[in-house]
Amino acid sequence: MDDEDPIPSIILNPAQEHVLTQLGAKPKERPEVSIEVQKNLRRRLEETAQIFSADIPQGEVLFINKHQLTQIMGCEKKYLAESNEKFEWSIPTARGTLSHKAIELSVFWHGPKDPLTLTEEALSKASEGTDGLGLWLRELSQGDLAQLRGDVNARVGSFLETWPPLQKRWRPMLETPIRVELAQGRVVLSGKVDLTLGHADGNASGKVIVDFKTGKFTPSHRDDLRFYALLDTVRIGIPPRLVASYYLDRGEFSPEKITPNVLESCVARVTDGITRLAEIRFKGREATVQTGPACRWCTISDTCDEGQQFLKLDTELNDVI
Ligand code: SF4
Repeated sequence: MDDEDPIPSIILNPAQEHVLTQLGAKPKERPEVSIEVQKNLRRRLEETAQIFSADIPQGEVLFINKHQLTQIMGCEKKYLAESNEKFEWSIPTARGTLSHKAIELSVFWHGPKDPLTLTEEALSKASEGTDGLGLWLRELSQGDLAQLRGDVNARVGSFLETWPPLQKRWRPMLETPIRVELAQGRVVLSGKVDLTLGHADGNASGKVIVDFKTGKFTPSHRDDLRFYALLDTVRIGIPPRLVASYYLDRGEFSPEKITPNVLESCVARVTDGITRLAEIRFKGREATVQTGPACRWCTISDTCDEGQQFLKLDTELNDVI
């Protein structure tokens, strides 16, 4: 994105100006990055994947996305329990997916954009689908559907109110899948980026990756974006300039500049994640436990001794303070 080039004949409100200020950069502010950075990152990922490729049964692929990475880097026992659970759509999960879809529609929509029309369009398209979301939506009660419509409408309204209209020359891309294959495709790192703006120009970083969020900041939001930055760097050869979580309900950013050091720490986390997942799934290593706040919403806490001890101590501490 070029912040020297104002949007023609559109008066922006202060929130929209803030988005431009946060995401825009003058050409001289875009760092040049050596292709050696990408080569080093790919080599490290490839070396780790190769260690385990012979352990992955024929016909199977070790897929890793941001959710699995976050889970496996927390309590491994919780990860194992949840990976055996069947995914089910709910208002919170559908709300995120449909909000992203309606925002995507808004970028390519001709004519006046109002949040409810975009929301209805996203709901209608999803309801016609033959996938799990379509089936779930068709069986939803009128009350739940109304709640979902209201939630999505609020998020889309917030986006339209706080973001400047996205210009073609910023090359906006929504819901873009990114994928890196390692060890001849036996290990696949993948993700879907909510929004990218800009692009690398030669060796100069220019892309901005944005993840839309609701609720409050958690460190895993930053880890998710670093993971996307790593995948995009390995894929394109040049890192994105900036990544940012954008909190739709608050109209706030949590941005981070992508430097070689950030990518170094991310590749260390991802190689650790590949190792843990491969050891547990294919080498029979017992999952370790890690107690912490996640025990409070862990689905197997009733049968986990360590989790029960943590929760008891936690309750006692809360009673004292
Ligand atoms: S209760 Fe806590 S320690 Fe036990 S499995 Fe769940 S998250 Fe892990």
